[in-house]
Amino acid sequence: MKGINGLELSPKKIDYLKFIKEKKRAKTTEISDKFKVDPSTTTKILLELAKTDLITYTPYHGCSLTEKGIKYVEFLNRRHGLIVCMLVGMGMDAKTACEATGRFEYFVTKDVVDILCKNFSHPDHSPCGTNISRDTCCCCPGGR
Ligand SMILES: [Zn+2]
Ligand SMILES: [Zn+2]
Repeated sequence: MKGINGLELSPKKIDYLKFIKEKKRAKTTEISDKFKVDPSTTTKILLELAKTDLITYTPYHGCSLTEKGIKYVEFLNRRHGLIVCMLVGMGMDAKTACEATGRFEYFVTKDVVDILCKNFSHPDHSPCGTNISRDTCCCCPGGR
């Protein structure tokens, strides 16, 4: 994905985005229940995500990912998977590496992700089973 550095979204927004991806279409109440937050807080965050064109949000109907949102989640999965590759490469087991990554992946930039990708010869999935999609830079320089 072009024009991102990986630090665009807060951990909370990233969790929201991944959840919406999983559900395909999510209602405000479902998201509030899932993350145990007030519906008004959820609405506020959804409106902010809609402003960045990552989701479409219709009050009372819920939200779904846009094309851009889908690409962004692909980046998030790619980042997660490649960090896990790194930790497993250093000797950690896949399950522990997956959990550990979930605590800090939010703060790893795309530059780091691309270097990892190159070093692991552009893997298509991680030891924890996450899909690693092709991306710009290392995998297909001219691509999306
Ligand atoms: Zn994982
Ligand atoms: Zn690559």
